[in-house]
Amino acid sequence: MDACDADPYLRRAAKFHGERTDRACPVCKSRKMVELRYTFGDQLGQYSGRLKSLEELREMQSEFGEFRVYEVEVCNDCGWNHLVASFLLGDGVNRRPPRKVRTIEDEKVG
Ligand SMILES: [Zn+2]
Repeated sequence: MDACDADPYLRRAAKFHGERTDRACPVCKSRKMVELRYTFGDQLGQYSGRLKSLEELREMQSEFGEFRVYEVEVCNDCGWNHLVASFLLGDGVNRRPPRKVRTIEDEKVG
């Protein structure tokens, strides 16, 4: 897993789902820096690898035993990005992954 790939998907995600930061881009000095948070974990099942807001993370904290969060900082102007932090969240209670359900994302992939 490499959250630091400056792929079009990451830049698109930053544009539409990024949460504004008050930092300036170290490369182009732009103030359009945003943060993205990706979640990974066995207990997330098919939802592993999804983008989550801080609010969603707070809810997930009590819904899952353990999952890892990757916090990525992206510049919406030049595309510069890097991994800010990765940490574990969860309430420590082991749960089975959620049952697989079809989602809009699945439809797109086929
Ligand atoms: Zn920049």
